[in-house]
This record gives sequence, structure tokens and C-alpha cells, in this order.
Amino acid sequence: MKLLAWNILGLVLIFLGGMAFAQDPDWSALGKAWWSHVEYLADDSLEGRDTGSAGFEKAAAYMADQFRMAGLQPAGVDGYRQPMDFDVVRFDESRSALALIRDGRVQPVRIGDDAILGVNPRAAERVEADAVFVGYGLTVPELDYDDLAGLAVRGKIVVFITGGPANMSGPIKAHYESSEERRKALVKAGVIGTISIGNPKAAEVPWSRIAASRFQPRMDLREPGPGAAPPLGMSVAFNPEHAEMLFAGSGHTFAEVLAAVNGEQPLPHFPLAVKVRAQLGMTRSQVRSENIAGLLPGSDPTLTDQYVVVSAHLDHLGVGAPVNGDRIYNGAMDDASGDASLIEIARAIRNSGTRPKRSILFLSVTGEEKGELGSEYFAAHPTVRGPIVADINMDMYLPLFPLKYLEVQGLGESTLGDDIRAVCAESGVQVQADKEPEHNRFIRSDQYSFIKKGVPSLAFKFGYIPGTPEEKIFKAWYAERYHAPSDDVNQPVDLAAAAQFNDILRKLALRVADAGQRPAWKPDSFFRRFAQQSSQ
Ligand SMILES: [Zn+2]
Repeated sequence: MKLLAWNILGLVLIFLGGMAFAQDPDWSALGKAWWSHVEYLADDSLEGRDTGSAGFEKAAAYMADQFRMAGLQPAGVDGYRQPMDFDVVRFDESRSALALIRDGRVQPVRIGDDAILGVNPRAAERVEADAVFVGYGLTVPELDYDDLAGLAVRGKIVVFITGGPANMSGPIKAHYESSEERRKALVKAGVIGTISIGNPKAAEVPWSRIAASRFQPRMDLREPGPGAAPPLGMSVAFNPEHAEMLFAGSGHTFAEVLAAVNGEQPLPHFPLAVKVRAQLGMTRSQVRSENIAGLLPGSDPTLTDQYVVVSAHLDHLGVGAPVNGDRIYNGAMDDASGDASLIEIARAIRNSGTRPKRSILFLSVTGEEKGELGSEYFAAHPTVRGPIVADINMDMYLPLFPLKYLEVQGLGESTLGDDIRAVCAESGVQVQADKEPEHNRFIRSDQYSFIKKGVPSLAFKFGYIPGTPEEKIFKAWYAERYHAPSDDVNQPVDLAAAAQFNDILRKLALRVADAGQRPAWKPDSFFRRFAQQSSQ
């Protein structure tokens, strides 16, 4: 009898479950609840939530409060907070200069128009050295590829074009193109400075916005994790439209280099006919900021010590160069949208009464815009004791139109790709692989701090079919709003679609937290190496 009763109850539950799914939740109401957090976090009064700013502190207090109200346990080191210290360096243009010296003649380089100078705590105040063009400036040991091979670069400044050879596979290229990996190889070769030239074809933002970014303070963790790459003495980013001046007299032109890049031909490597002279003015300070961590403990006595991290970044760019009279970089999509999702996903799980087997850690990190520093700190100093088995990261997933396609970064790399496929199939959403692998998005947000520790991870963007109006909306958003003051609450956003995204992420987190096996890298994944390294 009992068994039969259970069976009938089971059938009723399955039936009810089917009904619930057919009868959609009120996406519009859920979308409005999600948007209310974005409105708070991206309000002008939070002044763009710059790491270490008063506006960030308001945002952090809001997140801790919301985590508490969503029933999450404090999982920082001071309540929900995990504080950390940063060294801050600001560029002082009045004490800076850049010039090329050719046959003893000094040609000034206009800072802003022609190039920008980067700062870091160990940058040199004066540098003068010969320059060498080194193609893509990549060193990839496992492919026996070395742009520095046979070139005298010790004590010199290397000039390179961003990107990498067309025939190099996406993840390898993405990993070695990261500024950290490049720097490791260049510092090892004795290079003292770099001049990077962005490939205009792959540019996400116009030069004017890159030029404006030079006034953003540079921050470094006071206590970085082990293995962090040492900074270079000088780093310059050159305007590709004015890059020809670097090549004059060398027997080569930048046009020739670009033609080789676009024609997928090997790039020439050669000494340039100029010395580069840089004088760098910097002001130094220190700030403290924090990650906010909230825990939903797992219900399984064994699996509760394993953690599924769901993350987003709380910081944005603060107050900066005005665009159309607006100086506040509100960061509504980047990434208040992700923090709002953290809150709504936690609330939805609590409201459903579900207890996952593994623990789920909701993590809102600081310092992402400074180089994924908050997540790097967390990965080096986790506030939970057991293994972190997955990171599901939300950074600027761009709910700008209905959710029919979900683009997943890292889709083919781990079993998490199978999980997101299953969840999306259930919700009638089609999964897409990264359509623009040349933008390296899989390694450009906080998930990479976890990936480098061996943790399988995923990141997301709303997907579209190329050639449709959705593609236009997506691309226009990058051109007009990405890292601009217009990424604020006065932009068109599809609230119902954001709520549907939250629902998919909630299902994904629960599926991973309840699975018999923890997620694993695919045997042929490039990123699997980090799991092997960290288990040694
Ligand atoms: Zn950003």
C-alpha cells in the first residue's frame, strides 16, 4: 500500500511538475525584481562602484544585505566580507612624455592621440631603449612557437600586434595571449618594456575609449597568489592608425604587417630603426576592498564539503573621462546585471525549498576591472575549506533581446558543457559555442581565476544568429556602451529574458550541485593541465 501510495503521489507530482513547466512563471514580475537590484547598484549615487571607493562600499553593503535576506550564510572572513589590500598607481600626464629617437632626432609621440602609457607599482620612471618588432610576441612552448626566437631582445622594448597566428587553436592562443602569460615569457627573455598595437579588425572599442582609459587607476593585490607574473618596466599601447611612425626607416611598414595578419601569413620579425624614450609620472596610494560571499550549505553529509561557486563582479570603472557630459561609468550590464542575478538565483532556490547536495557559494567579487583581482585573491585564499568543483560566472551576459540562444564560453572544455546543454534543452533555449573566439572571452573574466586553479568553469552571453537584428543590437552595444558611461539604467534591456536566464542558471547550479560526479575537464581540453598541476 505504502509503495502504491508513493507511486500515485509520484505521478501526481510529475503531473504537477509538468503543469508548472507548461504554465510559465511570471517572467515579467521576476524580471522587474532582478532589475530593481540593477537600478540600485548602477545608480549614479554609487558612482560606478570603483574598487576601493565609497560607492563600491555601498554596493558591498547592499549585496551582504541581500544575501542575508535570501537566507545565505555569511561565508567571508568578516561576516559576508573577504577584505583585501591593493596598491594603487595613477598616471600623471603632466610628468609624462613619450618619444621616438631616430638618427638622433627626437619625434614626440602624443599621449592620448598616438599612444598611452601604462602604469604599475614596479614601472620605471624613465626608460630609453632600442625597439624590436616581434610579430605577435607569443611564446607557446607546447607548439614550439616562439616569436622571440633568434632575436636580441634583452634590455630592449618589444613591439607586437595583438592576436596570434590563425592556425593556432583558440584556447591555447587565448591562454598565451593573456597579458600575464605574455609578460612571463617576455620578462624571462629580459625584455624591459612592450608596445602593443591592437589589430584594428579585432577592436572592441574605438581608440578614443582606450585613450580615455589611461586615467583609470591601476591596482595590484598586495598579496597576490603564488606564480603571479612580474610586471614590466614599461608598457605602451599604440594607436594602430598612427603605428606607421614606429616602423619608419626599418625597411618594413605597419601596412605590410597588417596585410600579413589579415592574409594569415607568418609575420616578419625585425629590429626597428627607433629608440623609445618614456618618462612616466605616477602617484601611489593604497586601498582596501572586499569580495562578498554567501553560502547555501549542501544537504548531503559528504558532498556538502564540495562547493559550486556562482560568481559575478561587483566593481566597475568608477568616475572617469566624460562622454557626452556623463562622467559616471555605472556598469549596469557590466556587471550589476550579474550581481542582481546572484541575488535572484539565491532567492529562487530558497523560495523553492530545495536543498542541493553540494554547497553553493554565491560570490560577488571586487577588482575584476583591474585584472580579475578579487577572484584571483579568492582562488588563492578561499574562504571555504573543501574543494571548489565548479565556477559558473556571470559577467555582462547582455539580456538585450529575447533568450532564444545562449552562447556558452567553455562549452566544449568540461562536463559543465553537457550540463548547460541539458538545462537549456529543457527550457527550449539553443546553446551556441563562442562565436568570437578571437575576443578571448573565456579567459577575460573571473572564471579564469578558477580555471587556473583547475576548476571547470563556464561563462555566458545571450546568443543570436549572425545577420539578424539581434546581432546588430549586440554589436552596437559593444561599440556604444561597453565600458562607457552609457552602460547605465537608461538603456533598453529585456527584463523577462533576464529572468529566464536566471532560471537557467539556477537549474544549472542545482544540477551541478546534485550530480553524482563532480564536473571534470574533457580529456582533450587545453585547460585540463591546470587541474593536473594543482593536484600535484
Ligand atoms: Zn568590464
